[in-house]
This record gives sequence, structure tokens and C-alpha cells, in this order.
Amino acid sequence: MSRENQFDLVIIGTGAGGGTLAYHLAPSGKRILILERGGYVPREKDNWNPKAVNVDAKYNTKELWRDVDGKELHPHTNYYVGGNTKFYGAALFRLRQKDFGEIRHHGGISPAWPISYDELEPYYTQAENLYQVHGNRGEDPTEPPAGKAYPWQAVSHEARIQHLADDFRAAGLNPFHTPLGVMLDEKNPRLSPCIRCNTCDGFPCLVHAKSDAQVLCVDPALQYPNVTLLTNALVKRLETDRSGHQVREVIVERNGVLETYSGSIVVVSCGAINSAALLLRSANDRHPNGLANSSDVVGRHYMGHTNSVLMAISKCPNPTIFQKTLSVNDFYFGSKDFEYPMGHISFVGKLDAITLRAGAPAIAPGFTLELMAKHSLDFWLTSEDLPDPNNRVTINRDGEIVLTYTPNNLKAHDQLKAHLQSVMKQNTCSIHGHECHKGLFARSLYVGQRIPLAGVAHQNGTIRFGLDSKTSALDVNCKAHDLDNLYVVDGSFFPSSAAVNPALTIVANALRVGDHLLRRLRVPIVEYAANGSKSTVATGSWIREDAESSPISHAEATGDQILASC
Ligand SMILES: Cc1cc2nc3c(=O)[nH]c(=O)nc-3n(C[C@H](O)[C@H](O)[C@H](O)COP(=O)(O)OP(=O)(O)OC[C@H]3O[C@@H](n4cnc5c(N)ncnc54)[C@H](O)[C@@H]3O)c2cc1C
Ligand code: SF4
Repeated sequence: MSRENQFDLVIIGTGAGGGTLAYHLAPSGKRILILERGGYVPREKDNWNPKAVNVDAKYNTKELWRDVDGKELHPHTNYYVGGNTKFYGAALFRLRQKDFGEIRHHGGISPAWPISYDELEPYYTQAENLYQVHGNRGEDPTEPPAGKAYPWQAVSHEARIQHLADDFRAAGLNPFHTPLGVMLDEKNPRLSPCIRCNTCDGFPCLVHAKSDAQVLCVDPALQYPNVTLLTNALVKRLETDRSGHQVREVIVERNGVLETYSGSIVVVSCGAINSAALLLRSANDRHPNGLANSSDVVGRHYMGHTNSVLMAISKCPNPTIFQKTLSVNDFYFGSKDFEYPMGHISFVGKLDAITLRAGAPAIAPGFTLELMAKHSLDFWLTSEDLPDPNNRVTINRDGEIVLTYTPNNLKAHDQLKAHLQSVMKQNTCSIHGHECHKGLFARSLYVGQRIPLAGVAHQNGTIRFGLDSKTSALDVNCKAHDLDNLYVVDGSFFPSSAAVNPALTIVANALRVGDHLLRRLRVPIVEYAANGSKSTVATGSWIREDAESSPISHAEATGDQILASC
């Protein structure tokens, strides 16, 4: 292999995990190769076109997966620089403190994590700074302790959502502002990168004002001369040396040609399903069940949350443009009439008639789809699904991904819906009284695709980390137990899925693993800080190298610094 194909670090995948890690390691001076199977999302008007995005699924992968019966699955996932953060709703939550311990659910046990919340807390703070999270501390009754305030004030509610927040509060709940990664400056609208539009959740941001891994991490990392990105570079296999302890070669298909690269350290971050698939496809004599899989857990314990969209159709219209500002966690750990955890209530982006038509929902009596869209409050409900070894990713004889999944802990989700419905009924509209909310209508979430299994947005858990190499594939630093130089930093490491959106935890963990790698690579901290401060986006404002858990940050980003770079 030519010297130019040899790197200190190879990072595979540019989403929340890989993109963030690349950003964090860029000032190290180490030669870093980033491999991404997709290209950049083209900037075009279709970015904000509901038909192109939700009906034609223009930006979804066209790759076919299979379910356990061999039926085709059209996965709702995206292969681009920035990964799924290009399309996410940017609701950026910390897991709850108790989520790191063992929790009894109605459907079984949610296992403990091998690290505590306190170990991840400083990295959550860094992650919130890097991804410019707008939120208000102290409103969410389940909020874990945090070292610092959110870097930006919460995104305000529009009138209809504020009205609902007031109704919820009157009903005894504690509604709060959803922490959001959008670069909205409400005090200075003329210069705000974000224009507060109605095409955010599920859409790429045409004006690059969403806090995604491409805009905030990959592009800034590429300002460093030691960082190289290859797009349209699909990693097919990882080859080990004869001992089986080291990944020696990364086999890549680019422009129809196979190429080989190597890294002293190889980090897989392809998303929980594709990372498991890559390790399984890389089986060899030393690793007959797949790479890093002596425990037989790789691909198992697939989780993706139990999610529903519930539309509350009111007689009052809902002219809200940006709807994702409100959340409710009062039922997260249970209620007086259901003692088990139920989950999290928030919103999807405002649904429109075009998107609704593709989902063919039941039509409320007396309503057309247009009227429904004008009058609906569109809730997003998330409950924890539990890690079941039989819910898994496998590869069939044709090399295709097979996803086997039996939903579990469903009673919790039903109860969450019932609790929301009950609170909605208590709302008294000053114009229409109790009759204002005609009821909640479940609608198929996966617009244009009727297969719920295809909704893999919150995929996690397939390469779990843990203390015991018999029951986990990764150690606490997310290094494979079985190999010396292989790491995984996407959502696969989760031992349990909790019930809030996963991306901030993936980002925080990538920063944590990044610090471990800086230490392992013996990067001189002074040089790292100096390199960080030379970059136009990195500020090198605080550096610590003492304890293992002390975060090393080359960018405690301030609003001005990052906003100026957008
Ligand atoms: C519509 C939508 C809305 C969402 N909303 C939210 C939200 O509001 N809040 C939240 O927290 N989360 C949300 N999520 C989930 C969030 O986007 C993911 O949790 C997060 O992006 C996962 O990060 P990751 O690094 O694990 O994987 P990804 O972000 O998926 O990145 C994986 C990357 O690896 C690349 N790749 C895959 N295989 C290969 C290969 N073999 N070779 C090379 N490259 C490869 C992919 O192209 C991709 O770029 C949403 C997701 C979607 C789809
Ligand atoms: S402008 Fe703001 S609201 Fe619209 S897509 Fe971009 S980040 Fe989201």
C-alpha cells in the first residue's frame, strides 16, 4: 500500500458520531482520513419541498433491506456528509440521570450503562455548545443536573403552542421548551441564520442554519491540512492482520473501483445498523462470527424506540410555522395510575396536506386533509424499547441487511397515548369549550412507506458497550474488546435506548471517546490547543489533561464565533 493511503486514524461515517469525532481530533495534527459513502446534500429548492422530501423520498437511500420474512424494506435513512443529522429535527436532549442505571419497565428491564451520567455530563455541556443548543434549564421536571446553562435561550413558542403550554400547565403538567439545535437569533432576526421555517424536521436546511454534523463538524475539520475526506467512498470490509488483533486494511469501493487504506486506529461510525452490518461482513478465520463478535452480540439488541405521531384535531386552527418547541416529560418515569416509565411527548414539524395525503390517515368527520392540516396539533410520542437479543441486524446470502424486530414494552406506549388523550380532554377552549379537541388520530408515521420497521431514525444498540467482554462488544472507551485498534462511536454503543432522542448522547460520547484517543495517541496538549486556536472556527479556550474524565475542548464555541462561520 502506498504511503499516501496510510493514516494515523481512519473514521468511517460522518454523522453525529463520526463527524463530531473528526472535528474533535482535527487539531491533533494526526493524519486523519474520513470515509463517507454519500456525497454532500445538493443545495436546491427541493430541500424544502414537502413533496420531494416526504412523498418522493428524494433524499432517502434507495438501498433495499429485508425483514425477517425476506420482504423488501425501504429504510428511512440518509447517506450524506453529516449523516442523518442533515435531516433530523435537532431536538437535542440529554438522557435522564436515572437512564444510566437499571430501570424496571412494564415490559422488562432496561439495563444499566457501564458509565454514570456524571462521567458524560461535561461532554454533554461541550456537545450543547458545539451544536448550539437553545433551551431553558429548570423547566423540565426530569432534567438531569447540568454544569452550565444552555448556551442559547430556548426557541419561543408561537401563539397556538403557547396556548397549549398554558392549558397543560393549568392541568397540572410541567410543559417545557424543547432543547433545539437551530441557529435562530430571535433578538436579531435580520442577521439570524435560521429563518424559522416550516420545513425543518425531516428536511435538510437550505440555508445551513441547522446544527448538523456537516456544517458544524466536518466542514470545519476539513480546514485542517491533516484531515482528508473522501465522499462516495463505501467501506465494504475491514481486514485484520494474521493475529486478528489489529484492523490492517479498510477496503473501500469508490467510483466502482476497490481501494485500500489503513489507519493505526480505525473508527467505525456508520449508524447502528450499517456499523453492525460492516462488522458482520468482515468475518474472517480469526473472527468467524464477524469482527469484534466473540460475544455474539454484534447486530443484536437493535432498538429504535416506539414512536407515534398523534394528531389532535381542534376546532381552533393551528397556524404555527415551527411547531417543535414544546415537550412534556411528566409521564417519563410513570404516574400515579401507571407506575412504570411511559416516555416522552413532543412535536413533529407542522404537518401539511401534501405530507398527510401520502400517509392516507383516517379523516376526521367533517374535515378534509387541508382542514385537518390547518387544525392539527401534531404530537410525537417516544417510549423506550428494551434490548432483546432476537431483535437484530443480520446479513443474508446476497449480502443484504436483514432487520428482525418484534416491538416490546408496548403497554408503556399505549399508556403514554392514553395519558396525553386524557390531558387533552381536560383542555377547555374559551371559544369551543371541551369540544374543541375532537380527538387524537394516529397516523402512519412513515409517509409513502407503509412498513413501520423501515423507520430506523433512532437506531441504536447493535454493538453495545460494557464491562464484560462476554456480554458486550465494546469496552467503556468504545474500543472493541477483541481488537486493539478498532472503535465504534455511532449510536450502536447504547446498552439501553431511554426515551429521549439519541443524537446529543451520540455527540457527547464521541467527544468522550475523542479525549481517550487524544491521550492514547499522546497528542501534546499544548500543540493541540495551539492548532485549535489557529483555526477560524476553533477557539482553544480551555484545555485540561489531568483526569480521564476531564474534557479536552478546542472549541467552547460561542454564538458569535459559530454564527459568523455560517
Ligand atoms: C427524519 C429524522 C429526524 C430525526 N430527529 C432527531 C431529533 O430531533 N433529535 C435527535 O436526537 N435525533 C434525531 N434523529 C436521529 C439522529 O439523526 C441520529 O440519532 C443520528 O444522526 C445518528 O448518528 P450516527 O453517527 O449514529 O449515524 P448517522 O448520523 O446515520 O451517520 C452514519 C454515517 O455513516 C455513513 N455510512 C454508512 N455506512 C457506511 C459505509 N459502509 N461506508 C462509509 N460510510 C458509511 C452514512 O452515509 C452516514 O453519513 C432523527 C433522524 C431522522 C432520520
Ligand atoms: S431555516 Fe431554521 S427552521 Fe428552517 S430548516 Fe433551517 S434551521 Fe430549520
